[in-house]
Amino acid sequence: MKVLKFGGTSVGSPERIKEVARLVSNGERKIVVLSAMSGTTNSLVEIADYFKKRNVESGYAMIGHLRTRYKHHVPELYATPEARRACEKYFRETFIGLQRLCGGDFTDATEKTVLAQGELLSTHMMTYYLREQGVKVRLVPALDFMRIDAEGEPLLAPIAEYWDKLLAADTDTEVFLTQGFICRNSEGGVDNLQRGGSDYTASLIGAALHLDEIQIWTDIDGMHNNDPRFVEGTRPVRQLHFEEAAELAYFGAKILHPTCIQPARYAGVPVRLLNTMQPDAPGTLINNTMQPGAIKAIAAKDDITAVKVVSSRMLLATGFLRNIFEIFERYHTSIDMVATSEVGVSLTVDNTSRLAAIVEELKKTGTVEVDSDMCIICVVGDLVRENKGYIGRITSALSDVAVRMISYGGSNHNVSFLVHRDDKKKALQALSDTLFKE
Ligand code: ADP
Ligand code: ASP
Ligand code: MG
Repeated sequence: MKVLKFGGTSVGSPERIKEVARLVSNGERKIVVLSAMSGTTNSLVEIADYFKKRNVESGYAMIGHLRTRYKHHVPELYATPEARRACEKYFRETFIGLQRLCGGDFTDATEKTVLAQGELLSTHMMTYYLREQGVKVRLVPALDFMRIDAEGEPLLAPIAEYWDKLLAADTDTEVFLTQGFICRNSEGGVDNLQRGGSDYTASLIGAALHLDEIQIWTDIDGMHNNDPRFVEGTRPVRQLHFEEAAELAYFGAKILHPTCIQPARYAGVPVRLLNTMQPDAPGTLINNTMQPGAIKAIAAKDDITAVKVVSSRMLLATGFLRNIFEIFERYHTSIDMVATSEVGVSLTVDNTSRLAAIVEELKKTGTVEVDSDMCIICVVGDLVRENKGYIGRITSALSDVAVRMISYGGSNHNVSFLVHRDDKKKALQALSDTLFKE
């Protein structure tokens, strides 16, 4: 059995929903995870922002716009009055519910419930459509089995327990349909797996149930060898090792949620990236095979801040680095890149919410310099040290770019460079031109 996840663009219009319905109704039993229709979660974030800032009028207006947008889909999607009525009833309840909810005290919990509506809407729409088409579908609420602990970490055991029972009891259903992204937190409230988290939902289900394959269906033919939003002439990579895919996802390849490869890798379940617009294209297979000596792809992670601490006390002293790292740990701020010298250390973070307090503490240790608006460029492949020459090729490609930090040797699969965000596009293009020219 497989789990198939369809992203926002793949269910972005009635026409796309019909296409996904065709793809999932091939007679095989499967689990299908849907994102919200593209643009919906962004609109819900905007609605929440209006209510948080007490701009109630704009908030209600935005709910009204969203409701109108959804209403237009009904006649395009359904042929029968029964399906139309069922969908209209669900929309009515959702949008009136949203108005009531936002009219009360707008807490963090309210915000999470607002953000959850996109996936609930898309999965209900798909359920009514599949039913109309005579497909045996069962809508399985993600809030019944997807949970995170107090640290925000997803729990695999409840997923396995819930689905094992369900799949054993229901042998008739062809499509088990559920929501991506949404979950319950340790207090039982509605929560989510962060933006783009529907990939993670699919991966967690695939790993917990040890399924045959996790398929991520999106709007492009698999993982490209560079970011197609910034670089010309990118090409799909047909196969990646789990580690390579994990590095690419973590370092900015938007096609995958940053953490979605980990559960699949631990469970040994292959992941396949496929294109809803071109269902027969081969896409990318992610598994345990490493292609020796190959440089596979490049990715870039934005909004990075570099922190440099310089202190003569570091010279020949023990415990200096430990002190520095402990400060970041105390403020729950994780570090991506590190470079050290005799007199100082440079490191990067992507979460600056507690940086001011961190810097205050670091100042007790030495002189502190902070550079924001930086970007990590990450080259991924089989980069073991026996593969001589590739570092030379990579650095020669960047000869025209001001590089602030380099990290190599922390993993066999990545070399990272820190550059200013204004140099990102140039650096990505130069690397593609040098590393992937025919
Ligand atoms: P979905 O809504 O299906 O989750 P996303 O927008 O999250 O889709 O991810 C797909 C997008 O990721 C592509 O349209 C592409 O612009 C972007 N992307 C960034 N880097 C890459 C890459 N290396 N390979 C393929 N797509 C990438
Ligand atoms: N709908 C959510 C988002 O837009 C989750 C997802 O699409 O994966 O972030
Ligand atoms: Mg996505």
